[in-house]
Amino acid sequence: MALAQETKRITAQFEYTDEDVNTGVQEFLRQMNEGLQKDGTSMSQIPTYVTGVPNGTEKGLYLAVDLGGTNFRVCSIHLNGDTTFNLTYSKVAIPKELMTAKTAQELFAFLAKQIELFLKTHHEEHFEAHTQRRQTISTPDGFADEHLFRLGFTFSFPVQQFGINKGTLIRWTKGFDIPDAIGKDVCALLQDEIEKLHLPVKVAALVNDTVGTLMARSYTSPGNTSTLLGAIFGTGTNGAYVEKVTNILKPVEGQYDKSTGNMVINTEWGSFDNQLNVLPNTSYDIELDKMSVNPGIQMFEKRVSGMFLGEIVRLVIVDMLKNPNISLFRDENSSFNDWQSTTTIGGDSTIMRQWGLDSSIMSIAAADNTPEFSTLRQQLESQLHIYAASSEDAQAFKNVAYAVGRRAARLSAVAIGAIVLQSGLLSDGTDEPIDIGVDGSLVEHYPYFRDMIHEALSAIKGIGSEGTKRIRIGIAKDGSGVGAALIALVAAGMEKHNTV
Ligand code: BGC
Ligand code: MG
Repeated sequence: MALAQETKRITAQFEYTDEDVNTGVQEFLRQMNEGLQKDGTSMSQIPTYVTGVPNGTEKGLYLAVDLGGTNFRVCSIHLNGDTTFNLTYSKVAIPKELMTAKTAQELFAFLAKQIELFLKTHHEEHFEAHTQRRQTISTPDGFADEHLFRLGFTFSFPVQQFGINKGTLIRWTKGFDIPDAIGKDVCALLQDEIEKLHLPVKVAALVNDTVGTLMARSYTSPGNTSTLLGAIFGTGTNGAYVEKVTNILKPVEGQYDKSTGNMVINTEWGSFDNQLNVLPNTSYDIELDKMSVNPGIQMFEKRVSGMFLGEIVRLVIVDMLKNPNISLFRDENSSFNDWQSTTTIGGDSTIMRQWGLDSSIMSIAAADNTPEFSTLRQQLESQLHIYAASSEDAQAFKNVAYAVGRRAARLSAVAIGAIVLQSGLLSDGTDEPIDIGVDGSLVEHYPYFRDMIHEALSAIKGIGSEGTKRIRIGIAKDGSGVGAALIALVAAGMEKHNTV
């Protein structure tokens, strides 16, 4: 069948062999270590000032906010000290226009407003007690105030950290673009807007979402094992892991607890191999990058994360539609031979527009294993206004989505495998699990994503199938919120000891 054959030819471009995986791992290790030596490298390898992971006994009530790629979440977390927690939260979609606002202040004012709303709804007593006190005794800074909420700020973008609650924005990713914010301290930006609303809140810790995921997973992980790596496979992708301080050869300024000998490093692996030494680069990858707001950067992320996978699939499908030799989504009864007049695609379909195909349909395609693909065909119709798709059409779509998704999973294994190798844990002489916490829409909703990662891990030299058995990848639900609370707790301890 012509369509099946052509689909095979196209999807072959997304094959990422075991050999590719191994070449990728070697280059990843090289770029990781380069990033530990000096600033300004492709992978930033940012020291986070977090020097240990929790063990589940931590206690207290904290606030946390999370500015991710898509949503802004505010939550309060009660850590019960027995590896469990209670969490109250609210979530709003970040208004599109704020992602590209003129000034950083517009975005941060919106965030502070959401915090105010949350406190009024869920912590009213706390809130009122504080405002009354404020009127009677004026506290110059809130330090001594027992009503002060400590807040962990999860900010899911690359930040150069200068301390546990200080850090300047390096660059935006995931479609955000507010040039005015670059180089500014994002904690100060948030604290300023909180002050304007007189909220009883101190921004105590600045946390990347991957660091939060690492902390949360370590707090909740079964069997008291501490976690090596926290990773996000969602709108964007990134990982943070525990590194030996002696391996960090670039200077780490400022105060931190030196007793553990470790520090969590935010790798910013989304920018692994921006120079394309080893990353696969199809014509679709090239086009996606060219049309993005940040060409030439986040090159790994553009092949792995949810924001981009749907767009790659879309570009492949559009290419197939335009190819006169391929009959995909065609009305066979039509006598026209120009593809636009013979397709079964509705005129209002978003398939021809940039970002017009949401990655979530890839999960539906992967999950639909029926011979007729009824669910997938229904989704093609409702989401993309592609009518009367035949089962061959649906099969072709599914194969394209699978090829793109599988390459992403195998690239993810490159990052995870390299970090496992870097840790040296495989040769520690035990058979303890090497624990990895993950979060994000892709690992949560894309069927077989973790299985495909495991399969690729077992092909890595130095890991193999024996090593892979020790690698335990678990979801860290609500990771960034709980993790931010845990780091706010650490920060509170440091305040007491006057190290901040
Ligand atoms: C950002 C990271 C973040 C990741 C996952 C990337 O685009 O650069 O800081 O951790 O997305 O949210
Ligand atoms: Mg997130």
